[in-house]
Amino acid sequence: MTPDMTERLPLRPKRPDHGTVAAPRRARMMPAAQAEAFIRALATANPAPETELSYADPFTLLVAVVLSAQATDAAVNRCTPGLFAAAPNPAAMAALGAEGIGPHIRSIGLWQGKARNVAALARDLVDKHGGQVPDDRDALEALPGVGRKTANVVLNIAFGQHTMAVDTHIFRLGNRCGLAPGRTVREVEERLVKRCPPDLLRDAHHWLILHGRYICKARAPECWRCVARIHCNYRDKVLAPPV
Ligand code: SF4
Repeated sequence: MTPDMTERLPLRPKRPDHGTVAAPRRARMMPAAQAEAFIRALATANPAPETELSYADPFTLLVAVVLSAQATDAAVNRCTPGLFAAAPNPAAMAALGAEGIGPHIRSIGLWQGKARNVAALARDLVDKHGGQVPDDRDALEALPGVGRKTANVVLNIAFGQHTMAVDTHIFRLGNRCGLAPGRTVREVEERLVKRCPPDLLRDAHHWLILHGRYICKARAPECWRCVARIHCNYRDKVLAPPV
């Protein structure tokens, strides 16, 4: 009888499946006090969080956020200095047009559609809003290329409103650690807004994005260096760096 050689191979430890972008692993929802402690731990570690996008005013912030869809902030920051030098306000951007905007943003994904949207939204700002970015959700979401997430970022950063812009990082984090589990982005957003202590709500969006981007990463969370670890409900924490 032929011996089964596979029996002699050392067993590899099974890697946990940390989920996908569309379906991140979901942990048991934290009680309210635990959720607050989780966010306060992030706040203590980074008392003055800021967006990583470069901007000068509400208009350049709006354009930078529109450009950042499916692109990294670093990639957007590489192309916006040239674009904003050529067109620092809505009137100049509308005059530049999609053909003039395109060459500045070719290095980022979906640049042709984004060039058309930025030109069109600049025209709308001039025609309908006196060249100003509105501080109103409905008016923002009516602009070309502006969805709920972009409106939330602009309302939060430019106008100080207590909104929660849920991107892929916050969607994953909210589910994975049990802070705000939800099947949709909207569900996670609404849970987070309800669960964040009011004094932390404005900055919570920054803390959660940065935490998801750099610590609680998609492929594998770096729990060994997570300041909120003791408050997290995730069952498959990664407690040591890979060797
Ligand atoms: S302990 Fe791990 S899974 Fe939990 S929030 Fe921190 S990095 Fe994410």
